[in-house]
Amino acid sequence: MVEGLRPDIPVYVKRNARAKRVWLKMRAGLGLEIVLPDHVSQTEIPYILKRHGEWITKQHAAQWARGEAPGQSILPDVISLAFLQQEYGVHITTGSCAQLSLEQTHVQMILPSKQEDLGTRLLQNFLKYCARKHLIPYCQEVAQEVGIIIGRVSIRNQSTRWGSCSAQHNISLNAKLLFLPRPLVRHVILHELCHVAHQNHGPQFWSALQALDVETQVHDQALRQAWDELPLWSRV
Ligand SMILES: [Zn+2]
Repeated sequence: MVEGLRPDIPVYVKRNARAKRVWLKMRAGLGLEIVLPDHVSQTEIPYILKRHGEWITKQHAAQWARGEAPGQSILPDVISLAFLQQEYGVHITTGSCAQLSLEQTHVQMILPSKQEDLGTRLLQNFLKYCARKHLIPYCQEVAQEVGIIIGRVSIRNQSTRWGSCSAQHNISLNAKLLFLPRPLVRHVILHELCHVAHQNHGPQFWSALQALDVETQVHDQALRQAWDELPLWSRV
């Protein structure tokens, strides 16, 4: 434990020869990561922590509020699906057989004790179920509206992309899109629809997308930020 830091925040130190300066990152479920360039000695760490003490405390409090601080259970109390403008309360009880059921706006989960990973998997399946029910028809509706013919639409829980479009014009959407507001989901769908005619990200692709969504740049920026705000349980 590094002196001068709250004992409940674990610290990990990494070396990166290419780093030009010290980087701090509060990692969900893990703690504080400090990246040191070669020219900074480990003995600097207490001073670094002191200098950024306020930032660290603020980040930790925000992480705690999201239920993602180290040692906290990552299973949520509430699931907010912005696309549906719907909140689901999550109620967990202990039992021998893992199970999830949905009663209107309540998710009931039975979990064998300390089986948090099982809980995350059940919730991810729930997310995929909601995505199949709501995102697939929405994607078909948008395609029809802009007059682009597509193949099948499927739902996955990809870890690095919001969607994809195959050479056969089948579209795959990330279940985590449900956490985003409708205009952003529409943008992702329009992006994939433009790949039907343009397989790459060339100038023709971008002008086609711009024609369908004048706020393309704003939406792309918001989508990049949205990755960091996704609940931890949906991306482990
Ligand atoms: Zn693309």
